[in-house]
This record gives sequence, C-alpha cells and structure tokens, in this order.
Amino acid sequence: MMEQPVLVNRYGKEVFETPTMDQMRKEHCMCLNCGHMKPSEAGHCEIASRFFEICKEHGTAFILTRCDSWLKKGENDASGTD
Ligand code: SF4
Repeated sequence: MMEQPVLVNRYGKEVFETPTMDQMRKEHCMCLNCGHMKPSEAGHCEIASRFFEICKEHGTAFILTRCDSWLKKGENDASGTD
C-alpha cells in the first residue's frame, strides 16, 4: 500500500509528498545518475528539460525508471548529441 502523502513546502510551494519515496530519488532516479543530466550546460538532456518544466509548474518530483537515452556518467555519448 502506498505511503500516505504529507503536505510539505518545497521551493516555496505547498505539495503533497511521500517522504520515503522522496528520500530515494537521489540514489535511484535514472536522470539524477545520467551523463546527459547537465543543467545549465551545453548538451543538457532535452527530455529532462521538458520534465523539469512540469516540475516547476506543479511542484512534482519523480524517480525515472525507464529511458531510451540513459548514459552512464563518465562515458561518451555515441549518438554525437553530447
Ligand atoms: S537521457 Fe533519460 S535518464 Fe538521462 S537525463 Fe535524459 S531523460 Fe533522464
């Protein structure tokens, strides 16, 4: 059964959050552990940028578990987009 969300303030916005899942994000989110995740740098992930726009608007946070473009940190991007 899903943990009951609690109301918290994140970045000046009141949002409902599941504390256990939120604490797992840094370790388990593919985006936060991807070589394409380079905010404010050239070559930053376009997919992540689009997700971030929704996060800013609605105060959402998520753990990404699937992606066709994930890149191990420290490895070069064979697609040439990095
Ligand atoms: S390539 Fe996929 S896993 Fe990597 S930052 Fe972009 S959306 Fe996230």
